[in-house]
Amino acid sequence: MSLIVQKFGGSSVADAESIMRVARRIVATRESGHDVVVAVSAMGDTTDELVDLAHQITDVPDPRELDMLLTTGERISMALLAMAIKSLGYEARSYTGSQAGMMTTAQHGAARIVDVSPDRIREALDDGAIAIVAGFQGFNRDSKDITTLGRGGSDTTAVALAAALDAEVCEIYTDVDGVFTADPRIVPKAHKVDRVTFEEMLELAAAGAKVLHIRAVEYARRHGVTIHVRSSFADTEGTFVIGDRGENMEEPIITGVAGDLSEAKITVIGVPDIPGKAAEIFTIVAGTGANIDMIVQNVSAQATALTDISFTLSKTDGEKVLKALRVAQEKVGFTDIAFDDNIGKLSVVGGGMRTNAGVSAQLFTALFEAGINMEMISTSEIRISVITRGEDLTRAMQVVHAAFGLDGDADAVVYAGTGR
Ligand code: ADP
Ligand code: ASP
Ligand code: MG
Repeated sequence: MSLIVQKFGGSSVADAESIMRVARRIVATRESGHDVVVAVSAMGDTTDELVDLAHQITDVPDPRELDMLLTTGERISMALLAMAIKSLGYEARSYTGSQAGMMTTAQHGAARIVDVSPDRIREALDDGAIAIVAGFQGFNRDSKDITTLGRGGSDTTAVALAAALDAEVCEIYTDVDGVFTADPRIVPKAHKVDRVTFEEMLELAAAGAKVLHIRAVEYARRHGVTIHVRSSFADTEGTFVIGDRGENMEEPIITGVAGDLSEAKITVIGVPDIPGKAAEIFTIVAGTGANIDMIVQNVSAQATALTDISFTLSKTDGEKVLKALRVAQEKVGFTDIAFDDNIGKLSVVGGGMRTNAGVSAQLFTALFEAGINMEMISTSEIRISVITRGEDLTRAMQVVHAAFGLDGDADAVVYAGTGR
């Protein structure tokens, strides 16, 4: 019997009725002759609500306790889903991440999977049961503590289970019909794509398209797992994430447009333009554990021999990096620091960019015609990203989507969820 792993996101299990609907779907897969292992997210916006609750108690929740708190969300949905399946006359058993053998590094809030030993899942399947696994959580052998994989991590749980159990496919069920040319909540004219390559999906996920957790895509590529992103509200085929398009399939120049409002920009003003200063600054930044995204260094003003260095990073890392830089201000010798948390990042992604000139020109023209200013630009082989004002991002995504001829005939369907 072949095995299918199915992952249901929060909006697909938002209430009791949805849980019953998902249970019927799982049972239908079982009835069609497959073994089924399910990874499930917390109901609706539970995880966000738990994060909010923790912040009502303290500004800086203890990372270990925060993981203890957040993992309860998936425990609720896994137990209810197992009950729902049993009520339909099928055997089902739920397991926490640790019971399912999801071993991770010790880093709370951003643990990485190091080993998957799903012995209990295999036993359950051997007994003819459907196994339900709590998404986004694991266990560290050294600290003996419960960990989480980072927001959106249930996708990665599902892919890791699919790899360990050699599943035929890992189905990611969500509240839209698949991977679209842009987030349909922001660009209503976005359309579903049937196939996207791992490479493109990685760039889209890194650029802010949260439909798939980036580490799930990395994991699937490394372990050769087939991912099928589809709606839990409709029966239509979704999007397959594939290795490459093969010789007969033409590569679109632009596969999709993504937006990201989660970054901020720091500008270090009046840096002496001599060798070693950038190294000093970014060593301080690295020391805080923050990841940086784009970097721009201006040409130094000849009269002063001073330059400005701007970089972007996650908003949540802003405070600690500012603090660390201010402490070192005298030693590094810069004049001032500016912090800007009202920026948006727009990215266009497509494998066909490699062999087509003029994509940047087309992108910049579309933004210019819409009167949108670009503050920073960065490129990779198959992606161009620009920084805009935060309030311009939605419009920027819409005009760029249209300019690249991606607009569909009808508005996309978003079935549920708050998009939080
Ligand atoms: P789940 O709770 O099922 O994990 P998520 O909210 O994490 O769902 O991901 C699904 C959402 O991702 C969609 O509702 C959509 O708003 C958003 N999204 C962003 N970019 C894209 C894209 N390119 N294609 C499809 N959905 C996208
Ligand atoms: N419930 C977790 C979150 O909201 C994990 C997930 O849904 O993938 O981030
Ligand atoms: Mg998700």
